[in-house]
Amino acid sequence: MDRKGILIVVSGYSGVGKGTLMKALTARYGQYALSISATTREPREGEADGREYFFKTKEEFEELIAQERLIEYASFCDHYYGTPRDYVEEQLEQGRDVILEIEQQGALKVKEKNPDVLMLFVMPPDTETLVKRLRGRGTEPEKVIQQRLVQAVEESKHVDQYDYMIVNDDLERAVEELHHLIESQHTMINRNLDFVRQIQKDLVLLADAQTPGKKN
Ligand code: 5GP
Repeated sequence: MDRKGILIVVSGYSGVGKGTLMKALTARYGQYALSISATTREPREGEADGREYFFKTKEEFEELIAQERLIEYASFCDHYYGTPRDYVEEQLEQGRDVILEIEQQGALKVKEKNPDVLMLFVMPPDTETLVKRLRGRGTEPEKVIQQRLVQAVEESKHVDQYDYMIVNDDLERAVEELHHLIESQHTMINRNLDFVRQIQKDLVLLADAQTPGKKN
């Protein structure tokens, strides 16, 4: 039986620890392919081109849009972010689960085009922890932090568009919960209709063959 890859969207407020969670999940379990986005924002200290993001100029990004090489894109805090199409399609075809760690506008566009997408939202255990993590990262000036909090308020209004939430209180626990949640999706009947129908056909043939007097 072929196992089909699942397209998974992971969103969550800035500073909630999505990136760390995704890195831990993909390091532990080989079945996941984490899509690397293109962005026009500046690299943060420690980020490398082609690892965290493909860093692009505005012109380069707009060229990707024009050539339809992005599955979705959005503008977030004055910068473009988008998901390159080829990698996602290749990995899904190979049966890997593909994770898009993207913000909400893009997430909703993906959902519109792919009704089968699994929509996950990473929650902080409480808002104080979120703000502490956002400031504690120490990579953004206060103005950017404020901008991201405003964005978080906006995102909080549409969380009901997602299927499941993962509370990121303890990294280890959250990784396991996320993995088991995705694994359970693989056993859903409507994600396995080819297999279900094949068994049904085989059963009909077998029953016919074993019915006395019935010829195939
Ligand atoms: P950051 O600048 O903190 O790396 O990312 C800012 C926001 O952009 C995060 O919510 C992140 O999930 C989102 N993001 C990253 N890549 C993409 C993408 O390809 N498309 C969309 N729509 N959002 C993205």
